Amino acid sequence: MNEPNAAAGAIAPDRLEGRIADAKPTYGDGEAAGEANRCLYCHDAPCVTACPTGIDIPGFIRKIATGNVRGSARTILSANLLGYSCARVCPVEVLCVGACVYNDWHRYPPIAIGRLQRYAVETTLNTGRAATLFTKAPATGKRVACVGAGPASLALAGYLSLEGVAVTVLEKRALAGGLNTTGVAPYKMHVEGALAEVEFIRSLGVTIRTGVEVGRDVQAADLLRDHDAVFIGVGLGADGTLGIPGESGAGVMGATAWIERLKLEPGYALTGVQRALVVGGGNTAIDAARELARLGIADVAMVYRRTAAEMPGYAHEMDLARREGVRLVERAVPKEFARDAGGRLTALRLADGRELPADLVIVGIGQTKLRELATQFLGVALDAKGFIVVEPATGRTGNPKVFAGGDALGGELVVTAVQEAKRAARGICAALGVRVRPDAAMMAGHA
Ligand SMILES: Cc1cc2nc3c(=O)[nH]c(=O)nc-3n(C[C@H](O)[C@H](O)[C@H](O)COP(=O)(O)OP(=O)(O)OC[C@H]3O[C@@H](n4cnc5c(N)ncnc54)[C@H](O)[C@@H]3O)c2cc1C
Ligand code: SF4
Repeated sequence: MNEPNAAAGAIAPDRLEGRIADAKPTYGDGEAAGEANRCLYCHDAPCVTACPTGIDIPGFIRKIATGNVRGSARTILSANLLGYSCARVCPVEVLCVGACVYNDWHRYPPIAIGRLQRYAVETTLNTGRAATLFTKAPATGKRVACVGAGPASLALAGYLSLEGVAVTVLEKRALAGGLNTTGVAPYKMHVEGALAEVEFIRSLGVTIRTGVEVGRDVQAADLLRDHDAVFIGVGLGADGTLGIPGESGAGVMGATAWIERLKLEPGYALTGVQRALVVGGGNTAIDAARELARLGIADVAMVYRRTAAEMPGYAHEMDLARREGVRLVERAVPKEFARDAGGRLTALRLADGRELPADLVIVGIGQTKLRELATQFLGVALDAKGFIVVEPATGRTGNPKVFAGGDALGGELVVTAVQEAKRAARGICAALGVRVRPDAAMMAGHA
């Protein structure tokens, strides 16, 4: 089966991510049917509880087993409009698949829920008729603006559009999709997959305007004046820095900035890089290290200030990184970057005197918060860490017209961004007096 490709013409073909293959390719029809038929269709299935969006997993798998792939996609997308990217990027080992009852028997592998989900949604997206899975409510006359076109805004926009709300999504970058487009590891999903999902959301009637930065091209006050509600889905800001000597200059890059180049920059190459270091112990750092290894860099090491057991990244991802040849340097506190007389990076020096030779250092120690943007909306409060404060049940901020979701609230996953967006969609409808149909997509899955 071919992956959906809505990106023809929008992105250059010679991007580095093209050299990294899909780790879990799409199932063919026979494979999907075989895997679906292994499902035990548990009552009160633990996988459903473990999915943050509460997809009816036994329900969608049964539909695959009976040949109703389109119905399966409808079940998935109702509870999770971004069921396509989630199928590809969710850390299923600690979510749905981790909860599968097969794990307790240690005899057969758990059901490959993510791969089945991908099969059903991808097959349906490829028909070009995915939008017709849903009926749209008549126009309500209500207008909502979304700031940022990442997973949180896209999911919210799709759910509201289906209930007759006119939604405009404003994105500062040239391409929509947020980190699904700019950050997700290529072995999970390439840019083409992320953009195909953006087109699906657009096909639900959502207006997406790229190259428009709120706070620069459009002001918060204008959005509030022209819309009945505003949703802030801006995610996080630039990569954090170490603040040590030698950091600014060639050869040292923030992790999300580097991954964005890898995924989108035409002709970007790692010329002359033999030894690469990744500073950090979280999932972004692990992703960057695995990407370097998969691109054939001979010596890739992660540099973490504590021990392996204390790393915040997923243990299963770190195991895979090790198998791909990534080394871990523990108890390593960076002190300064060493450069030769010409300014070329040569090593990273540690506080304990060790020196790690390097041609490239990726700094993956977290992203900054977009505090200024949020506080341009009167009444929107931030917590001590800089995350936007909302009512958990509705996503409403201190400004009654402003809602928020996703990484800007402290989330870390696409699937949690979608669930927060779904809650905010319900919250916005309640606040604006929009009648939500009992069988509306936004009512499916977890409350
Ligand atoms: C490298 C990396 C890899 C990841 N891998 C995974 C993974 O495998 N699985 C997973 O579940 N999660 C993963 N995540 C986390 C996941 O990507 C995020 O949780 C998710 O994208 C959050 O969605 P969001 O919409 O809140 O923010 P984002 O995806 O960050 O989208 C925010 C959007 O808002 C735009 N924006 C910001 N400010 C403005 C403004 N002023 N005006 C207009 N637009 C603006 C940004 O350009 C961006 O497009 C990863 C994160 C990173 C950094
Ligand atoms: S959305 Fe993610 S967690 Fe939920 S069932 Fe799908 S792959 Fe599993």
